[in-house]
Amino acid sequence: KVELHNLRKSFGSAEVLSDINLSIKDGEFLTLVGPSGCGKSTLIRIIAGLEPQTSGSISIDDQSIDHLRPHERRVAMVFQSYALYPHMSVFSNIALPLTMTALNLYERLPLIKLLSPRRRKIMKQIGEEVKAIAAQLQIEPLLGRKPAQLSGGQRQRVALGRAMVRHPAAFLMDEPLSNLDAKLRVHMRSELAELHQRLGSTFIYVTHDQVEAMTMSDRVAMMDAGKILQLGTPDELYARPANIKVAQFIGSPT
Ligand code: ATP
Ligand code: MG
Repeated sequence: KVELHNLRKSFGSAEVLSDINLSIKDGEFLTLVGPSGCGKSTLIRIIAGLEPQTSGSISIDDQSIDHLRPHERRVAMVFQSYALYPHMSVFSNIALPLTMTALNLYERLPLIKLLSPRRRKIMKQIGEEVKAIAAQLQIEPLLGRKPAQLSGGQRQRVALGRAMVRHPAAFLMDEPLSNLDAKLRVHMRSELAELHQRLGSTFIYVTHDQVEAMTMSDRVAMMDAGKILQLGTPDELYARPANIKVAQFIGSPT
């Protein structure tokens, strides 16, 4: 379980997050939704450790992670821009978090013979891990390609694969579908929802698209101006919006 306690964030004199409290259950698909500038990305970046909070704390399974650096936190961020390395194969892009020496491993597979038995064993394990994840994402035939040779949806899956190799306690996704065209976005929505079911992992998902929020999530946290206006299941938000802002955003009958 991921918990945010009295989280605040200011940039200079501007307070962009004020006193956020949130408890995200294991395996939950929780979506942060709200208008542009309300603080969604800032919140998810703080959870990832990419941005320090001004005050408050974050814990995973009741242990504070505030002192941990991004790669030490058991969370994995899937970026909107995918952050794939263009000169590296799909294989190496996915393997990257496991070992820096995996760089361009796939291209140099024949060289594995030259490694010490211990290194060779590690490389073999990494290879198997990457292939298993690629199989889950149905991108196994693409492992030798470069990102430029992939479609948007395929790149999205590679970015997911890179997050999956770390077996994080929570996946953090900041508008992961916003670069895709409308048709692919609808397709990837159901693919992500299916992946969430299959992995059983916690997803913390950011979007400003209310359809995405309402169709994919177990619970939705509706944000505005650095605060959570309402937290509940999509049905609850729709049927009993806490105020007019929630009602308008969700499209509830008023
Ligand atoms: P969007 O839907 O447009 O992505 P968002 O909800 O993700 O919006 P944030 O990116 O979290 O919004 O930004 C929240 C507020 O914090 C905005 O007013 C933004 O201008 C401000 N902000 C974000 N990053 C910084 C920064 N590094 N320095 C100063 N202000 C910042
Ligand atoms: Mg944002």
